[in-house]
Amino acid sequence: MTDPVLIGELLPEVVAEAIARAGPGYDRWAEQVAATGYCTHPVRLRGRVEHADAETGEGHTVYSTDREPDATLLKACGNRRASVCPSCSATYQADSFQLLAAGLRGGKGLPDTVAEHPRLFVTFTAPSFGRVHSRKAQGRLVYPCRPFRQGQRCPHGGRAGCWQRHDADDPRLGEPLCARCYQTGAQVLWNALAGRLWSRTTIYLYRALAQLAGVTEAELRGAVRISFAKVAEYQKRGAVHFHAIIRLDAATDCGCPSCVAAPPAGFTADLLKRAVQQAAATVAVPCPAVDEDQGVTLVARWGDQLDVHLITEAGEEGELSAEQVAGYVAKYATKSTEALGVTLDHRVGEVELEGLDVPAHVAELVRACWELGARPGLGKLRLRKWAHMLGFGGHFSTKSRRYSTTLRALRRARVAYAIRRRRGHTLPLDAWGRPEDDQAVVVVASWTYLGRGYQSTGEAWLAASAAARAREERRVAREELRSTTAAA
Ligand SMILES: [Zn+2]
Ligand SMILES: [Zn+2]
Ligand SMILES: [Zn+2]
Repeated sequence: MTDPVLIGELLPEVVAEAIARAGPGYDRWAEQVAATGYCTHPVRLRGRVEHADAETGEGHTVYSTDREPDATLLKACGNRRASVCPSCSATYQADSFQLLAAGLRGGKGLPDTVAEHPRLFVTFTAPSFGRVHSRKAQGRLVYPCRPFRQGQRCPHGGRAGCWQRHDADDPRLGEPLCARCYQTGAQVLWNALAGRLWSRTTIYLYRALAQLAGVTEAELRGAVRISFAKVAEYQKRGAVHFHAIIRLDAATDCGCPSCVAAPPAGFTADLLKRAVQQAAATVAVPCPAVDEDQGVTLVARWGDQLDVHLITEAGEEGELSAEQVAGYVAKYATKSTEALGVTLDHRVGEVELEGLDVPAHVAELVRACWELGARPGLGKLRLRKWAHMLGFGGHFSTKSRRYSTTLRALRRARVAYAIRRRRGHTLPLDAWGRPEDDQAVVVVASWTYLGRGYQSTGEAWLAASAAARAREERRVAREELRSTTAAA
């Protein structure tokens, strides 16, 4: 997040807006901003909460925005993307971490014996769509990008290789060596099919595991269940890839989340690893025909680069610990196309195609989505709708139902905790002073959506300043705590 600018650098009208906001009602407004966690684009709501007596039907307004500044209530936008809202994204990342870690080490309703289940961390990548500039390094040694025979040319007269040793922040990383040799169209089609390829992989995984265990698929499904959580990430070249946590459980059909048990003996992490390798190597999804009279069927497959790590207690050599994996995956859950050096936050319209302020190869990918999106046979892939995502229209982070708790449950628990803390140990009472849990009252809330974001630049500036102050206070508190602990 950028630090707030000095007031001397603000435009006079912005200063006027800030002063107006800092007038009467400021304290309550600032309280609301703090309650959103200093969201940068809070949702503005108007409305009321009413309690109606279940028996008599008598109503009482217990909360109304009429008494709020501007008769408005601010609510956090909840966006997961760090580039859209840093504070909501930080909350999302923390929640994701809790959710992912619970599936690996227990907690949040899961027994801690899940730590003994076979658990893998797998990265599924896209195949190659042509040569791109890349950085290959081992320790401090950096290798040449694409060492081809000197002077060798591609059919378009471009250099076939690249002998440079690229820096980690070289903007050319991920760019094709020759834009015309590069299979831009194939890559966006692959991105569009990646979500389907993933779901088919989970089916193939059962099949491969059954084969390796020497049982039928039905017998296998009666014995084990594969639980997973995954996130999508963009590689520099603009292809999506997936990081997945895969855990093997015993098959239980009762609905409660704590009924997660270790799979029968013989179902080891190594067996699961072999099944993942076999499934990834064989699974494919056919692509709808690009042209009516196209003779061949295109299929989407995973690339050869499949990274499989065992997740263990200690995180030994070549293995990863639960904390490492949960932290890694949670971080990616807050990103989108940022890794490409651009933020395509919104859908792209036809008029914008020309002036896209993104690297050339990203613009090519967006254009390919737009072009292929017009082909009738490809309509189902909705490439135009997902052009800003370079064709990928799937969910960024998903999990199977039994992996662990849900983000919604974590949010509910956080709200309940905040209410408990505010209220202390007193019971919540309804409008008539009876315990709210007695169900003698019906709670009716009605809200109208007014808009999103602060109402003026001056207001946004004040909110950003308050956020900076809160961050500073937290930092000082942390330091004080550290020095007291050190002194003790
Ligand atoms: Zn927000
Ligand atoms: Zn290069
Ligand atoms: Zn070429």
